[in-house]
Amino acid sequence: MARKRPCRVCGKWFEPHPRAGKRQRACGQEDCRRERHRRACVAWHEQHPDYDRERRLRDRVRVDATVGEPLARDPLAEIAWDAARDAVGLEAAVIVEETGKVLALWARDAVRQQAAEITRKLAKVLPRPARDEIAAGAGPP
Ligand SMILES: [Zn+2]
Repeated sequence: MARKRPCRVCGKWFEPHPRAGKRQRACGQEDCRRERHRRACVAWHEQHPDYDRERRLRDRVRVDATVGEPLARDPLAEIAWDAARDAVGLEAAVIVEETGKVLALWARDAVRQQAAEITRKLAKVLPRPARDEIAAGAGPP
């Protein structure tokens, strides 16, 4: 069990909770816990000064486009490009947007290539009648 210690907020001595032990710095009073939490938040924000600005920017440039089939959606439509341009400038936004288009086309072609490869391999493995049934679109009897 941790020994009694002074509360860093009110200064009164308290007995730390057995599970918190040495980590507990404030007594159990509501005001002291709130003040300790507030100070911890201030310290965290001093260590992560860009966190809120970054989060707000992410919210601004991201469009909720979760409607429809995932693969039928245009991934580039999930970015608010006008907000991105405002944030990083015209040149950087255009480069990022064009890079996104190249990657989207590359991904589409890679998937098509894989599908064709799988079809070719299956044709070698499946017996001839099964292939004919698949080609005819026949289901189980
Ligand atoms: Zn206290």
